[in-house]
Amino acid sequence: MLRIITSSTWGFARLGHPESAGRLEAIRPILEKYPQELLESPHPNVLRHTAEVHSERMVRRAELRSAESGDLDPDTPTSPATWRAALLAQTAALLAVEEAAREPGLRLFLPTRPPGHHATRQQSMGFCLFNHIALAAHHAAAHCALSPVLVVDFDVHHGNGTQDIFYTRGDVFYFSMHQYPLYPGTGLAHERGEGEGEGWTRNLPVPPGTPRRQQMAFFKEVLGEVSASARPRLVLVSAGFDAHRADPLANLLLEAEDFGEMTREIVAVADKYADGRIISFLEGGYDPAALRESVETHLAALAGD
Ligand SMILES: [Zn+2]
Repeated sequence: MLRIITSSTWGFARLGHPESAGRLEAIRPILEKYPQELLESPHPNVLRHTAEVHSERMVRRAELRSAESGDLDPDTPTSPATWRAALLAQTAALLAVEEAAREPGLRLFLPTRPPGHHATRQQSMGFCLFNHIALAAHHAAAHCALSPVLVVDFDVHHGNGTQDIFYTRGDVFYFSMHQYPLYPGTGLAHERGEGEGEGWTRNLPVPPGTPRRQQMAFFKEVLGEVSASARPRLVLVSAGFDAHRADPLANLLLEAEDFGEMTREIVAVADKYADGRIISFLEGGYDPAALRESVETHLAALAGD
């Protein structure tokens, strides 16, 4: 069973910026093939939850800058509509976890924007105001008895924000495959967590131009190791599609069908350990046609088509 949780505002970004609501318009025909739940307004207490994974100073700064359509960093423009879209995405993350906790076997896709995986505990950055998947992972582990959680991040960029938030925790396992070197410059193999989180971070950096079959083989091998060691009760996916060969922001060579293949592997992990519970969050993907084709194979695999 696959459902989509979407929202009434997708926001917008500055003209010419690669991360815009046009990305969601590009995938709308694909989303419409599946049952959708529409979020009309943010949860009134959503920022209380946001403050469990981000500093209050960061939340306040994002709110003030958004009100005046200011920048949070050189890559991260905002507007009042972006702020509203970010709060709706945070609300969707909470709702998705609560639905997954009630319904074994539930698979959810959240076409969230702006994306989230670069937002650290202290800092909005890299197009991201708040880290939606981190809020979901924290909510699941801390409040919904779904610990441990496995986050699988196949966006072409390293999810430095998600790694930062869980680096010292032993209840959320973070696995990222990403191009290296590339923005944001983190995600080396020796970064494996600290303290209670030691061994709970696994990075698979892939050089630019790596042949796609080789990259897929790396992914399968490491996902197998990671899932056997995490034994997750919930699987979350940072589904970025910017490792596609057509993407303008990176230099990897995946095809749309590869995202379907990775998704089937992740679904098998969820079925084996987590009663089939899986929630996927849209992260990057900046070529509209490649994004549409890749999301199509991802959702078909999530739906078991
Ligand atoms: Zn990305």
